[in-house]
Amino acid sequence: MWCHENETRKMLVEKSKDFCRDRATARRKKKAYPVQLRHALTQQFRSADPRIELSRLETLVRKEHLPKPLSAIYSLLRTSYQTTRRDLLQKWIVNIPDLTVEQWSYILANSLTPLIRSRDRLIQFKYLHRAYYTPYILHKMNPAFPDKCNRCNSPNADFFHMVWDCAQIQHFWAEIADYITQLMAMPVEFHPAVLLLNYLQDTTSSRSERTLLTFLLFHAKRAIALKWKDESPPTLSFWIAQVEQTLPVLEQIYYARGCPTKFNKIWTLWILRNETYTNRTVTVPAQPMDWLVAPN
Ligand SMILES: [Zn+2]
Repeated sequence: MWCHENETRKMLVEKSKDFCRDRATARRKKKAYPVQLRHALTQQFRSADPRIELSRLETLVRKEHLPKPLSAIYSLLRTSYQTTRRDLLQKWIVNIPDLTVEQWSYILANSLTPLIRSRDRLIQFKYLHRAYYTPYILHKMNPAFPDKCNRCNSPNADFFHMVWDCAQIQHFWAEIADYITQLMAMPVEFHPAVLLLNYLQDTTSSRSERTLLTFLLFHAKRAIALKWKDESPPTLSFWIAQVEQTLPVLEQIYYARGCPTKFNKIWTLWILRNETYTNRTVTVPAQPMDWLVAPN
């Protein structure tokens, strides 16, 4: 018994020594991090010394006396969101000079809603906010990285080039626009505001047609994102395969929400055209999928 207690005591003493050693190492590392960070920043951005400024939000939350903090933070976030939206419009207007404020409001209000899966909405959101690493951005971060498009070798390959302007991507979009025009028997304008930003108000007044268009155009953008680093653009068959893969999930969601007719109304044209999906084995969920039911 004594032997056992002695062993336990020895073990505890060793553990406490380890704990003290770990804390001392952590303290040393904590002191070293700002130095390492400063060194990394000066190595990365050699042209100018990095200037670190507090954001408006940080300044606000660091105030000693902040009456009604929740309201103050909320109103600050709201104003900065408005500024972001305005700045974003200016960026798009540089690439699409005929984009109007009314069209932009429509795009912001409608481009996310028809998509159901949050990961799909995230891709759409990232397109809207041009939030992808392009060769142009990577070159600015590190000059060793070439700023050339991996498909056509054009220099200064920025976001708009990667998703629209590139000759190879233009060919892909032309194929998509032709396919959809034939599928839906209605002209789809070959314009970045329509194909890239989902400005569909002038294309069709039917809600189900707009939903179908939103999904099809979304999958074209998703196909470009999936082939972002490839030397070749996505193909029409790759795009069709992407849409087909998603259909069973969408069908189950519409069944779970109790509106299978809505699914058929939106997707009948596609299903009639694409035999692979038409010949599928239908698997309707036996149990309603509660987590998919839309909130009232
Ligand atoms: Zn290119």
